[in-house]
Amino acid sequence: MFSTDLLAWYQRGHRPMPWRDESASPYHIWLAEMMLQQTTVAAVIPYYQRFLEHFPTIHHLAAAPQEEVMHLWQGLGYYRRATLLHACAKALVERTNGQFPNAESDLLALPGLGPYTAAVVRATAFNLPANVVDGNVERVIARMYRVETPLPAGKGAIRAHAATLAAEPDARANPRLYANALMELGSQVCTPKAPLCLTCPVQGFCQSFQHPDATTYPKKSLKKQLPHHTATVWRIRDAKGHIYLQQRPATGLLAHLWELPHSGWEPKAPAILPPPLPLENGWDAGTITHTFTHFKLTLEVVDATVEAIPEAHAFAPEALPPLSTLMKKALRL
Ligand code: SF4
Repeated sequence: MFSTDLLAWYQRGHRPMPWRDESASPYHIWLAEMMLQQTTVAAVIPYYQRFLEHFPTIHHLAAAPQEEVMHLWQGLGYYRRATLLHACAKALVERTNGQFPNAESDLLALPGLGPYTAAVVRATAFNLPANVVDGNVERVIARMYRVETPLPAGKGAIRAHAATLAAEPDARANPRLYANALMELGSQVCTPKAPLCLTCPVQGFCQSFQHPDATTYPKKSLKKQLPHHTATVWRIRDAKGHIYLQQRPATGLLAHLWELPHSGWEPKAPAILPPPLPLENGWDAGTITHTFTHFKLTLEVVDATVEAIPEAHAFAPEALPPLSTLMKKALRL
């Protein structure tokens, strides 16, 4: 059966990952999964290790100031995940003294846990049967069954096929190993551009084996052209070399992070203009471009100087608070 061959292959050897150890707790697995969304394993490992040094338990994480969490997350991107991570830790400590539930409905009731994260926690932390479908699994299943409906509409058919395989006896008897094995197969064998079909352990079950078009699955809808937005940021420095920064709101895109004053770089969002400081001079420092998931941005960077910046907004360049990648780019220009 599919799961028998898959498990035999996985048990012959796989990449070591700290959160795949038998000793990994639900806290470790959940933390890793939050970090792994849209991010590679190689990029996550140092962040994961640093987080656990600072917050060895969920109680440490829940008790930490938001600033500290954002600081440690800095550079990992998609900052909303850090806000949700902290909110989830607090909710768990409040509701269950930090114990992770194992029922799907209880997991889904926690901040930031969607169907995928709930399933992977159930399977890999509690060794309970679950239909774990991440991007890697989606690719394997779409190729195996040659699912013709483009994503995202094809996700339903892919999940249904994945559920059938996850119900096989060996998969049900080893949910942790099975989930990890299927994700590993997608990332190491059934890769996006050059799947290793000739050595694939489940080639006998795959309808795309020996088809030259395997890489055209999963089918994707034609991409919409992203809207393009332009804005200005001001790099204001004072006589001591301090930089003017302001903090973003506690909710929404890049919540809590600090940024330069700007003319409104998010489409439809208001400008947060430089304060009425007596700007002594200003000059154009150049432009940067950045692509978000839903729009492209061209940012004009303007330098200006003032005598003094109010204390609450003045930061020395070597002691900057958490900043988004966009603002780091603007400061580096
Ligand atoms: Fe992927 Fe090729 Fe294996 Fe099919 S045979 S699952 S396309 S690697």
